[in-house]
Amino acid sequence: MNNGYRIVVDAGHGGSDPGAISGNLKEKDFNLKAANYMYNRFKELGVPVAITRDTDESLTRAERLRTMTNTFGNDSKVLILSNHINSGGGEGAEIIYPLRTSSTLPAMILDAIGEKGQIKRKYYQRVLPEDPSKDYYYIMRETPNTTSLLIEYGFIDNPKDQKKLQNNLLDYVEGVVEAVANYIGITYTKPGQGTSPGTNTYIVQRGDTLYKIANQFKTTVAELKRINNLGSDLLQIGQILKITNNAELPSQDEYIVKAGDTLYKIANQFNTTVNRLIDYNNLSTTILQIGQILKIPKSSSSNVIYTVKKGDTLYKIANMYGVTVDELKKINNLTSDNLSIGQKLFIPEGNTVEETEYIVYKVEPGDTLYSIAKKYNTSPEAIKEYNKLTSNLLTINQVLQIPIEKRVMENSIYTVKKGDTLYKIANNYGVTVKELMNLNNLNSTLLTIGDSILIPKQVSDFTN
Ligand SMILES: [Zn+2]
Repeated sequence: MNNGYRIVVDAGHGGSDPGAISGNLKEKDFNLKAANYMYNRFKELGVPVAITRDTDESLTRAERLRTMTNTFGNDSKVLILSNHINSGGGEGAEIIYPLRTSSTLPAMILDAIGEKGQIKRKYYQRVLPEDPSKDYYYIMRETPNTTSLLIEYGFIDNPKDQKKLQNNLLDYVEGVVEAVANYIGITYTKPGQGTSPGTNTYIVQRGDTLYKIANQFKTTVAELKRINNLGSDLLQIGQILKITNNAELPSQDEYIVKAGDTLYKIANQFNTTVNRLIDYNNLSTTILQIGQILKIPKSSSSNVIYTVKKGDTLYKIANMYGVTVDELKKINNLTSDNLSIGQKLFIPEGNTVEETEYIVYKVEPGDTLYSIAKKYNTSPEAIKEYNKLTSNLLTINQVLQIPIEKRVMENSIYTVKKGDTLYKIANNYGVTVKELMNLNNLNSTLLTIGDSILIPKQVSDFTN
């Protein structure tokens, strides 16, 4: 079925050897995440597979080589896939392959990573300076007949690659898995499709616990352990868990309100919006009672996934979908404004741009496109485009039409910043403290920085 191929997945470095470092990023962490994911995927595809380390531990060269050469032997159908992150100035992925091996598989792997959005740098062989008949890397030199490849997914010290490694590493690994499946002649199936019907899969993220995942998918720790044959509660980042389809669980579309719940929290958990919950349950108030039963609407089509294209900015995408940059960042857990091509963004449902209106503005002394744009919450580019201006120069008394987005908003989300008070936020949004407290089920006016506050439904019209 797989023509006799066996795979050893290697997570480079580990423990006291961090590999390449940049800021607080360590190569060993990326390598481990990639390797655990890769190992689980090959297992899922039914290929005999071993892994050199599945935790953050130090391995001696001998220990690493032992797994590589003693598990499955020493022939060319043993594929050793060593996961690494590059450094030293450069951008994109590189594959290094042994002198004894053809370039077919390295080329396929690099292409596959390229198709996932990473820059294809090169695939090449590297020899020992003192003996060019030998491979430079011991994982090739000392693994006699195997097909031993070193995969460098990107450069840890390149800002663009950093972003990609943080957001898209597992996409690239999935590319490697697909390329290898094609090379060894097995049927490639996407994650989760190889599992029995009635189950989905979930990839374990940093900070996950079985309890957290069970809650998220409305199942139990015991059930998760049972269907995944888990002997302990320990999880690895990148581990693939089978999740029983909620459709098969009784009361899948009902939720019992617990202490501390808010509509916002529940909406988030079930991939829906506060407004849908309100509509669906005919709620006349946003205040919840412990023990109250909420019907949960099906959410399959309620959210949009957007793939970042060249030239995109958060501001542009937010505008396109009538949401705010803050909302986009919040729902996608982004900590910076940087995007990488191919990155997938979750677009929150709800806010729609209804129409564009304009107001007439007469240029005054000291005005610039920038100052006017700022005043009316638009951009200099938008004013230029709307007025078909070919230069940034304005003349006094010149008449401009300023495009105003009249947005019909549903509830929006505000993230509490340093110095915020409920009173201040309420004032900013033209609502009352009481409304905010009700909508967010707050018992006190104390806020914590980073908290998400739901801002109630309103029609905001910047012309007022
Ligand atoms: Zn390395």
